[in-house]
Amino acid sequence: MQATAYYLDQPGGTFTATEETVGEPGPGEVRLRIAKTSVCQSDVVIYKQGLPRILEWPAILLHEVCCYVDAVGEGVTKFAEGDLVGIGCDIPCGDLECIYCGRNGTGDWTSCPNTQATGHEFPGFARTHAILPAWFVELGPIVKFNPDVKPDHACQLEPLACCLEGMTRVNNCIENRIVVLIGAGSQSTYALQCAQAMNARKIILVNRGIERLERVLRDFGDDTVVGVRWDDDVVDNVLKECQPFNEPHFIMVNAPAKPAYELAPKLMGYGTVLDGHAGVKGADGKPRIPHEVDLNNDIHYRLQCYQATHGSSMRGIELAAQFISEGRLPKLDLMTNETERFQQDELDKAIARAADSDSLKVIMDWE
Ligand SMILES: [Zn+2]
Ligand SMILES: [Zn+2]
Repeated sequence: MQATAYYLDQPGGTFTATEETVGEPGPGEVRLRIAKTSVCQSDVVIYKQGLPRILEWPAILLHEVCCYVDAVGEGVTKFAEGDLVGIGCDIPCGDLECIYCGRNGTGDWTSCPNTQATGHEFPGFARTHAILPAWFVELGPIVKFNPDVKPDHACQLEPLACCLEGMTRVNNCIENRIVVLIGAGSQSTYALQCAQAMNARKIILVNRGIERLERVLRDFGDDTVVGVRWDDDVVDNVLKECQPFNEPHFIMVNAPAKPAYELAPKLMGYGTVLDGHAGVKGADGKPRIPHEVDLNNDIHYRLQCYQATHGSSMRGIELAAQFISEGRLPKLDLMTNETERFQQDELDKAIARAADSDSLKVIMDWE
């Protein structure tokens, strides 16, 4: 069958629509028809400056995707033609014997030395059709949604999975607790909605720019949510909002910037969990951001926890699928307004819109 794939020739370059022939799926394989993609901030970075993980150019971008199963190969029983599926970005290395990614592996795909991701080492989904190899179909990350789930929601499976991995790596740090979210981009907006779904006691959203802070507070706020401007008094103002507690219970760094990692430890108190969710990376690589921790007084006696997750495993993907399927994020549609919707031939415009300081989630329609 004839399909269209959109190739970016080089970082900062142009997209070209290329007609390609996609064959029938082989044994264990699945052929997909792309329904929707959403645009990640990493796509913006790849578009503008590339990524060392992308080994071959021209490259097919986009990893946040939902698809309809178009045809299944011999032996595939988990999926059938017409199924709506969501797909993750971090994927197994493909070796069925791998101790991380294989059939009897730990499932910690991102720990595998041969870790790969869609839209990086593995082609992305800026294309109308794709064939998933047998190991991908068998090991994941791919989940089937009920037909009543909206493709607009299903395509956000992956960013939501990453967020939930970070919020659930340590047990019992959200429900009935004070949650601080640093940054007000899409990961913080997912985190805010997940914290609401998990019955956080209070959610404190910290951001420098007023535009996005106001958008998120207006559309997602309720009486458990407050916004704090990130200015010179931010530490005092956040701690004031934590009262009658002396500290927050969970801090999530969703701003990929050194100042966010300098702010977060100042908010640590008794029993606080810090999730270093957004990594900091610049033209000179990954900067060192030192912070001294007293293993006895801070970690043991004050029960502090410093942790992070990278991307998502099948655990996060399944959790995110559950949140979407059970309708636990009723305001998800508000992350995408009419200025954030694009058609398949508008990739450059979609990515440019995702780079805007007021944008939350850009969705592209492939049908
Ligand atoms: Zn993403
Ligand atoms: Zn592996």
